[in-house]
Formats: sequence, C-alpha cells, structure tokens
Amino acid sequence: MARQFDVAIAGAGILGLAHAYHYAKAGKRVAVFERGERALGASVRNFGMVWPVGQPPGEMREMAVASRGFWLEVLGASGIWHLRSGSMHLAYHEDELAVLEEFVTQQPGYGATVISPSEVLQKTPVVRPDGLLGGMWSADEVCVDPRDVIASLPTYLRYLGVEFFYGSAVSHVETGRLVAGGEEFLADQLLLCTGDDFETLFPERFASSGMVRCKLQMLKARPQAAEYQIRTHLCAGLTLGHYANFKGCQTLVPVLKRFERELPEHLRWGIHLLVSQHESGDLTIGDSHEYGMSHDPFLRESIDRLILQYLDTFLDTSQFDIVERWHGVYAKHPTKSYIVDRPCSGVTVVTGVGGAGMTLSFGLADRVCRGLV
Ligand SMILES: Cc1cc2nc3c(=O)[nH]c(=O)nc-3n(C[C@H](O)[C@H](O)[C@H](O)COP(=O)(O)OP(=O)(O)OC[C@H]3O[C@@H](n4cnc5c(N)ncnc54)[C@H](O)[C@@H]3O)c2cc1C
Repeated sequence: MARQFDVAIAGAGILGLAHAYHYAKAGKRVAVFERGERALGASVRNFGMVWPVGQPPGEMREMAVASRGFWLEVLGASGIWHLRSGSMHLAYHEDELAVLEEFVTQQPGYGATVISPSEVLQKTPVVRPDGLLGGMWSADEVCVDPRDVIASLPTYLRYLGVEFFYGSAVSHVETGRLVAGGEEFLADQLLLCTGDDFETLFPERFASSGMVRCKLQMLKARPQAAEYQIRTHLCAGLTLGHYANFKGCQTLVPVLKRFERELPEHLRWGIHLLVSQHESGDLTIGDSHEYGMSHDPFLRESIDRLILQYLDTFLDTSQFDIVERWHGVYAKHPTKSYIVDRPCSGVTVVTGVGGAGMTLSFGLADRVCRGLV
C-alpha cells in the first residue's frame, strides 16, 4: 500500500530542506525525495553566504532578514558550524566609496556603516592596505559551510520527524500522488524544489516561465599560514554592479562606466568577487556568470585568471594555494527574484532564487508554508 504523508518534497537542496523544516515545525508529516545519493546541486557549490545586505529594500530585504533569523534558529538548534561574520565591501576608488556612502545614507534601515581604512584593517587585517579608502561594514551576514549544511541538516530534520528518501528520483507528480524511485506515495501537498531541473517535472511550465540557467566558476584556496583569517565575508568594487541593493544609487552610474572602460573582460563574463572562509580555514572564491539554457561542463582557465587577477587587488593571492575548482548552476528568472508556481491543485514549484538561494531559503519557505506567496 502507498505510504501517506502530509507533505512530500522533491529535492534535498537548501530549498527542499528549508521547506521540510517549516512544515515539520508546523506539525506536518514530511517526506523529502532526492534523486542523488547526496544532494550535489547549487546548494553544495556556493559560498555559504547568508547575505541580507545584498537584497533590495522592500519584500526581498524583509524576506532575507526573516530568513537570517530562521537560519540562526536552525543552526543553533542543530549545532551546525556557522559564524556571524558580517560583511565588508572594500573601496579602493573614490567613486566606489561614494556609492557606499550614498547607500548607507539612503538606506539607514540596513544598519550598514562606512568605516575608515584603519577600522577596515582592524576588522579584516589581511586585506591590502595600499590604496584602501574605506569599506562598508554590515554586521548581519552569516557564514555557513554549504557542504556541511546540506550533509548535516537532514540529521536534525530527522530528529523533527522528517523522512528522507535518497537515490529516489521523483518521476511523476499529480494532485495528492507522486512516484519516486518507482514507488507510489500519497501526500496532501507536494513541493517541487528541484533547482535547475527544468526537464523532468512539468517541463512545459518551465519552458514558458522564461527561466534560464546561470553557470558560475568557483575556486577554493588554502592559506599557507594556519592563522590566516579574513574574519568576515569580503567583496570589492565589482560587486556594486551585481546586487540589487545598490541599484538606486546615482553614484553607481560613473562606477559602471569606469568598469566598462577598465574591466571589459570581467564584465563580459559577469565576474565580481566574493570571498568566504569556513571552519577549515579554506577560502571559497568566485565567481563568474554565464546565462543560457544549456552550459558546457568545461571550466575556462581565462575566467579563473580574471577572478584571481581582481582578487589580488585586495588580497595577496601569493599567500594561498588553489586546491579546488568547480562550477555551479542555478535557475534564474530575468526579472523575478523567485518563482512559486502551482501547476495543479496541491502541487507547488519553488525555484528561481538565483544567486540568493542560501540567503532567501528559510524566509521564502516560511511564506510558502504559511500560504503567503
Ligand atoms: C557557485 C554558486 C555560488 C552561490 N553562492 C551563494 C551564496 O553564497 N549565498 C546565497 O544566498 N546563494 C548563493 N548561491 C545560490 C544558491 O546556491 C541557490 O540559489 C540555491 O542553492 C538553490 O537551491 P535549490 O534547493 O533550489 O537547488 P539545488 O541545490 O540545485 O537542489 C535541487 C535538488 O533537487 C534534486 N532534484 C532535481 N530533480 C529531482 C527529482 N525529479 N527528484 C528528486 N530530486 C530532484 C537535485 O538532485 C538537487 O539536489 C550560489 C549559487 C552558486 C551556483
């Protein structure tokens, strides 16, 4: 006889796990089905940055702040390693500093502050001091190790009563019923958190949704000195053009024009620099952005060179060795920050969180669970 759950979730990436958490806390009997023996999608390939400062004011910022609260709740209860790292936007050009100053003035609610070079160096002593004009410090950001979270969180969710079925691909979904690993299951609600898999379930809905895939190149570096600590998430000028929080700043226009003149290849490959550091001491470094429906699996050495070249403007790259390279892919809609689609009664697709899926996961799942989106 088919087993019955209140909620069945396809995908054990961060969105699937975040939904499992909220539904389990709401007292539902939850099952999670993951096609892989482990989840190996975007959720294990990222920086592990919970980054509310990057979200634009309004709904997205509120969701990110709420999400951060849930992250801290879950991380505290599960004992999974994390650091309240905050984040630092570094400025080595006057025009970049002007954007940071305009942003903190325009958006006092973010609680970010522009600080002097000596204050920056106190918080993160390893950044290059030469030419440093200041930085924007935000205390809110949290650092997790994505590989650890995706491997360890299911243990805590099992303790909340969630059942996991790994190596069990969901191949058919209809109202109240799904087929996974060749077996039938019944559930009142079905959630599809299948990331960038647009082909397996409801392919026609994905085809008409306008979503594309974004490919990103990433590197892991091992500092030569064990005591090397960046202490906070780091980014610099190129990031100003990447996150929607800075879009309302007039002072951003000349910065982007200068990048077009000085860094055309970085813009061509959508490169901006983020650096996080996890418990092991290794640095996660990236990234580039290529958009399309299908991406080749090959890593371009030229992209890695551009990433490391720009990184060297604020961290001395001779102090660490590159130990891993990989790419990740996420689903992205050209204009929407997330996709919640209901192809039939009792079935909800949640995806399209783009480059902010770790940040938004628990906040978005909370809203889905409460029927607010
Ligand atoms: C390189 C990179 C860096 C990033 N950095 C950050 C960051 O620092 N901070 C941040 O906020 N966001 C970041 N992101 C974005 C974030 O990682 C993603 O938005 C998020 O992980 C998406 O989660 P997901 O659960 O939707 O997808 P995924 O993690 O891809 O999970 C989907 C899962 O569904 C499974 N699946 C698919 N089809 C089926 C099926 N039919 N049956 C069963 N299982 C199925 C897959 O195997 C997979 O495990 C980054 C992304 C990348 C790629």
